Amino acid sequence: MMGPSHALSGASVWLAGSWALDRWAGYEQSPLAVAVGTAVCAGSALLPDLDLSGRVTANRGGATVARTFGVLSLFLAEVIEKLSLAVYHATKLRKDPDRTNGHRTLTHTLPFTALVGWGTTVLCASYGRWAVVGVLFFTIGLALRGLFEDWAQRVGWAAVTLVATAAAFGTYVALPPDRGYPMLGFAVGVGCLVHLLGDVVTSAGVPILWPLPVRRRTWRMIGVPDALAVRVGGRVEVIVLRGAFVLVALLAVAALYVPAALPPPLR
Ligand SMILES: [Zn+2]
Repeated sequence: MMGPSHALSGASVWLAGSWALDRWAGYEQSPLAVAVGTAVCAGSALLPDLDLSGRVTANRGGATVARTFGVLSLFLAEVIEKLSLAVYHATKLRKDPDRTNGHRTLTHTLPFTALVGWGTTVLCASYGRWAVVGVLFFTIGLALRGLFEDWAQRVGWAAVTLVATAAAFGTYVALPPDRGYPMLGFAVGVGCLVHLLGDVVTSAGVPILWPLPVRRRTWRMIGVPDALAVRVGGRVEVIVLRGAFVLVALLAVAALYVPAALPPPLR
């Protein structure tokens, strides 16, 4: 899937999950907490594609994500891609093909998802609000790039960085002090997981079983068959899937905050 679809899927999953927790588990969150979680999850749903360095075709998939913070994130993407490629070659088995690019390898695995989610939680628990600001800045920047792609391209990376900084500090001021913020790490993990699911429905697939060896391969790409696969950037993705994500997000927000606006069966 392309960037905006990944970001939208992250936002809608977080909103729907917040509604479900509220309704079935009695877990209430303030509107700010839901908004922060949604932004972090939407941004993190783009994180795995930071393994696409800037030399790939313009405006395709994660390439735009790599430009979120200008040269800095382009460089980061280059490092992540090379690191992923190194891990690929270090853990590949005989039947795994050779590769020259690390896209859709390490950052598209379940261990990576768990690691960044857990790492974020540890970071926020150890360093408190300053770590929270860093996580917010980074993920809100990615979310802006993904959710408002046209705007982000028009105004450029410096403006995106500025808005992400302002949003991160605004949230910093409003957040209650002295907490572990475990939901933040959870939102990062859920975002990455939603990204993997989004890529599974395309024909290229993702190495979701890594590092389990299956028939002399650790990097088997798991995706749906070509006939059923969602074409990247095609009509099903842009109209049907994005439409469904927006609808779910709107319904969840309405159910959480203005249930009277919904027909009785949905309240
Ligand atoms: Zn991807």
